[in-house]
Amino acid sequence: MSESLIVVCPHCAAPNRLPAVRLAEGGTCGKCKKALFQGHPVELNGGNFDAHVGRSDLPLVVDFWAPWCGPCRAMAPAFEKAARTLEPRVRLAKVNTENEQQLAARFAIRSIPTLAIFQGGREIVRQSGAMDEGSLIRWIQANT
Ligand SMILES: [Zn+2]
Repeated sequence: MSESLIVVCPHCAAPNRLPAVRLAEGGTCGKCKKALFQGHPVELNGGNFDAHVGRSDLPLVVDFWAPWCGPCRAMAPAFEKAARTLEPRVRLAKVNTENEQQLAARFAIRSIPTLAIFQGGREIVRQSGAMDEGSLIRWIQANT
């Protein structure tokens, strides 16, 4: 890990440069002054997706889901807990594919839930199907 890294604000999507040694403390956004980590997933949409995928130095785990999908809803609490466990080393995020159909099409999401991990602006791995909390955390740790 380099000496400083870019953390994208979950509130205003501004890139913040943070010394790596201070990552564990979290810190606040230089632009909107809110906390850079909150222990729960960031809602991504067409407006902030590219900032989080393209600018962040942290691995980004995206849950492509939809409100009508039972397995997605069942997995949501596990995804929340994984965010609490894994931040600030990893950023967890959600894309509601019903509202964000362009993002779903762009990433060719054919079944939900689909989980994809992005690093350095590109997708490195994806997996379809719901996971329990333990499997989710192991899968993320194995791929980041
Ligand atoms: Zn901000």
